[in-house]
Amino acid sequence: MSKITEKLEKEQFLEKEEFKWLLENNTPDLRADLSNRARRVAGQTFGNGVYVRGLIEFSNYCKNDCYYCGIRCSNEQANRYRLSEPEILDCCAIGYDLGFRTFVLQGGEDPDFTDEQMLELIRNIRSGYKDCAITLSLGERPRAVYEAFFAAGANRYLLRHETASEDHYQKLHPKQLRLEDRKACLQDLKEIGFQVGTGFMVGSPHQTVENLVADLLFIKTLNPQMIGIGPFIPHQHTPYKEAKAGTLEETLLLISILRLMLPKALIPATTALGTIDPKGRELGILAGANVVMPNLSPVSVRKDYALYDNKICTGDEAAECRVCLTKRIEGIGYEILTHRGDYPQD
Ligand code: SAH
Repeated sequence: MSKITEKLEKEQFLEKEEFKWLLENNTPDLRADLSNRARRVAGQTFGNGVYVRGLIEFSNYCKNDCYYCGIRCSNEQANRYRLSEPEILDCCAIGYDLGFRTFVLQGGEDPDFTDEQMLELIRNIRSGYKDCAITLSLGERPRAVYEAFFAAGANRYLLRHETASEDHYQKLHPKQLRLEDRKACLQDLKEIGFQVGTGFMVGSPHQTVENLVADLLFIKTLNPQMIGIGPFIPHQHTPYKEAKAGTLEETLLLISILRLMLPKALIPATTALGTIDPKGRELGILAGANVVMPNLSPVSVRKDYALYDNKICTGDEAAECRVCLTKRIEGIGYEILTHRGDYPQD
């Protein structure tokens, strides 16, 4: 066992069969070995620092119909909302006072929040908060739109590839959505100059060990600055409402593997991880993650951005979330860093 983990740490890569072996032999001992290595590797670049990002979930309208997602367009029971620009700027102001220097604007693919509105919003945040990073997570857009977002002052873009296997992609999405489009978007974003994040859900319906190995290989080749993974959690008003959730153990194992593969990547301990286990985010940091993304959205809309059931932190004001997370991070011997936290340059 320690031969493979040692090789992964040293070479930052493994043969397919070796990755497969790790995923099929996910014991507490293996996780302890991998997380010790992953923590050490993260520490070499980030010390005991954890970056924070203020997440603003500004619209849950979505034209897509992803089978796993609670805000898919055919979920008629979703209570739809869209924040106005002044409401979003208020979230930024509150976040800035709480020490956030990265704002993440995430939403469904909302056709009524136009590109022009988005550009104006980005310009206003850019001019109001010169020392902050702007991260977008708005799904697939034409290259020219990504270019305009970048020129307006956005710095980073999160777009999970969801799964790198064609057949699996089709089991999770309607046929209008294509893996090759998703990959082309990621390529465009990189070429334009965004710091790019990708990732996948752990334990998504029909996922196999081979699919996960393909995800790891895809991520290694893309070499993104950020990697977001979290457990799949079913949502009651989706076709996959009966599917099993991904596990804490598998997510932690994969966080450690990804940290060892991409030592300098920005890897969040996600809200989904905190949802399947009360200590999920802390365990994520201890497995090699180095980012947390508390919510800055107004409490009035929090519970409506429901990608999955039982999402945590839907009742707390931003300030409460900030205090709670600081305590959690300090409780495991880490420290929240309040600067922008860009991808470290060599
Ligand atoms: N519209 C944007 C943002 C999507 S929501 C985009 O297309 O990128 C952000 C992420 O939440 C998705 O990429 C997906 O991986 C995750 N997600 C969606 N439904 C989920 C579920 N049921 N359980 C866990 N994660 C989910």
